[in-house]
Amino acid sequence: TSFGFKEVREEEKSQMVGNVFSSVASNYDLMNDVMSAGLHRLWKDRLVSKLNPFPGMRHLDVAGGTGDVAFRILETINSVDHRALQDVLEDNLHEDTQIYVCDINPNMLNVGKKRAQERGLENHQSLVWVEGDAEALSFEDDSMDGYTIAFGIRNVTHIEKVLAEAHRVLKSGGRFLCLELSHVEVPVFKQLYDYYSFSVIPAIGELVAGDRESYQYLVESIRRFPSQDKFASMIADAGFQKVEYENLVGGVVAVHSGWKF
Ligand code: SAM
Repeated sequence: TSFGFKEVREEEKSQMVGNVFSSVASNYDLMNDVMSAGLHRLWKDRLVSKLNPFPGMRHLDVAGGTGDVAFRILETINSVDHRALQDVLEDNLHEDTQIYVCDINPNMLNVGKKRAQERGLENHQSLVWVEGDAEALSFEDDSMDGYTIAFGIRNVTHIEKVLAEAHRVLKSGGRFLCLELSHVEVPVFKQLYDYYSFSVIPAIGELVAGDRESYQYLVESIRRFPSQDKFASMIADAGFQKVEYENLVGGVVAVHSGWKF
């Protein structure tokens, strides 16, 4: 397979993503920290703070294998002052909170389950691990208060299908939030970032994970992903309203948001 700058055909793409994440799963946490200099933690914090999780919510985190986003949502809900909320949320007690972690790759889900175990959350009734495809979700229409996807939509075969499914499963009033590596437009910073992604990332991939090609592929997938504005218009086309995005670190990542009404 040629990784170069050539287009990757669709069938190849899904197969390659499977390979990438199987080979990457065990090194996943370490690589995230090394490549982003720990920043991915802050980006995920930002995503969850925008979500504004609440006790009793039904939330779906797609491509969430590592549990990174789900654990943050749970922690945020646990930190809410329940006494203050008890009156308004009588029928919505904390125990009803459901956070579904959906991922297509069982290896990634196992990484997440192992990490849940390390945190003493393996039997937590709010966490539900589901193997499934973002393009064809097994959840019912109008069943979720929130939907998140962090560093996941870039690698799917049909972005439109993922957005349509997100819109389908959300309740009216539910929010879609997507955290993704995006496009830097600030001139000098862009050149530095290009150098970092084309030269440094594959080298780190080789050094830390012993796998240059997978990381080269990841860098290319960032280039091919639609611009912030284009992606925002795709979200609107899927039926979402009040679509907006926030760039972090000059567009290295962006958080896109939309509401279903
Ligand atoms: N959300 C986690 C995080 O931010 O740490 C994991 C992100 S990881 C880069 C991308 C994940 O997307 C992988 O776990 C992969 O298995 C999953 N994935 C890829 N294609 C998918 C699809 N069609 N449906 C569901 N998950 C998918």
